Amino acid sequence: METVIKSGNVFVDGRIQRCDVLIRNGIIAAIGTDLTAEHSINAAGKLVSPGLVDVHVHYRDPGQTAKENVHTGSLAAAHGGFTTVAAMPNVTPVPNTPEQLKRMIANNQKNGVVHILQYAPITADQNSSEILDYAALQAAGCFALSNDGHGVQNAQVMYEAMRRAKDNDLIIAQHAQDDDLFQYGVINDGVKAQEYGLLPITELAETTQIARDLVLAQQTGVHYHICHVSTRSSVELVRLAKSHGVTVTCEVTPHHLLLADSDIRSDSGLFKMNPPLRTQEDREALIEGLLDGTIDMIATDHAPHTVSEKQCGFAKAAFGITGSETAFCELYTHLVTKGLVSLEQLLSWMTVKPAHAFGIEAAGRIAVNQPADLAIFDLAQAFTLRAEDYLSLGSNTPFTGETVYGKTELTLVDGEIIYQNKGQ
Ligand SMILES: [Zn+2]
Repeated sequence: METVIKSGNVFVDGRIQRCDVLIRNGIIAAIGTDLTAEHSINAAGKLVSPGLVDVHVHYRDPGQTAKENVHTGSLAAAHGGFTTVAAMPNVTPVPNTPEQLKRMIANNQKNGVVHILQYAPITADQNSSEILDYAALQAAGCFALSNDGHGVQNAQVMYEAMRRAKDNDLIIAQHAQDDDLFQYGVINDGVKAQEYGLLPITELAETTQIARDLVLAQQTGVHYHICHVSTRSSVELVRLAKSHGVTVTCEVTPHHLLLADSDIRSDSGLFKMNPPLRTQEDREALIEGLLDGTIDMIATDHAPHTVSEKQCGFAKAAFGITGSETAFCELYTHLVTKGLVSLEQLLSWMTVKPAHAFGIEAAGRIAVNQPADLAIFDLAQAFTLRAEDYLSLGSNTPFTGETVYGKTELTLVDGEIIYQNKGQ
């Protein structure tokens, strides 16, 4: 079976060029002009991107499937143009054993419409004490290690975990959070915490643990990845560590790039996430960090919840917002069309850079012999983000209602159409 995507503006080798992409049996067979095939998709005037890569999603499956499941989470990813995602292990039960992990991976493959890589936990039940058998988890198919949702509190445990991860050539992806500093905070320690009388989260909860871990990473030589950096100081610490040769990578979320705590409009749980929205100064430092290469990639931290868990005011709401279906269009609209970053830069942070950092060979590039994982976006027509259009079970995002550019027209995985825009 052959299909040609005709006359798109195709992101190849870091540049956008008008050409055709020929797909044969799920693989990219040729890139060029005047290519023909039995089936044809007209992409004239549209952006043809490698399928987007998201190394941070929560699919709540097993155990919390009222929020999301593998199938709905992956449909949401496809709707956002993502074709490869990595799912966090903070599910119920936490997959501490190879058997549990294998069941999750089998479920991902059976019910997911995109490629789903699976994180294993760093410690048993993510509670910072018992280090798991990484060789066994790796043999069972884990992608990397993370306790996302929780920081590893004990320095000795983290040191030992890093040593063992290094021995097994596994990446440690840390949700950096010192619980003693975090306490019961719900919102950034700033103007809105005071205005609404909410318990504050100091940035020290994030930065002190990053500083500790960077020293440990330097000692152990492990590949240390920091989830969702959110403050200027975090970026500065990573910049310094990189200049000293520490093997560190980090990600930033769309919401931390686009929103600050001063944007919180009401006592609404839709603005509650962890780490919290920080200051405008922090937000600008995150964009600078991307531009100078300190921050390696964008990841959504797609965190669906039920309506009742989010529509209960800031203090009581669950942490986290959805991200898969709003990431590209929000970032394109607010960063690219406003001239803050180029389209090529945005695409590289959402495709080739995460794939490269995590060694995901089969993702992130349009090249001959790569799997035909592609996303086609319409950059010209404005559209409005509506809750009823989301394919995630969660609609907990403050971006709903915004008019944006960058609608997903078509998403292909291994040459198969897994999402198609049927019109608004
Ligand atoms: Zn996290």
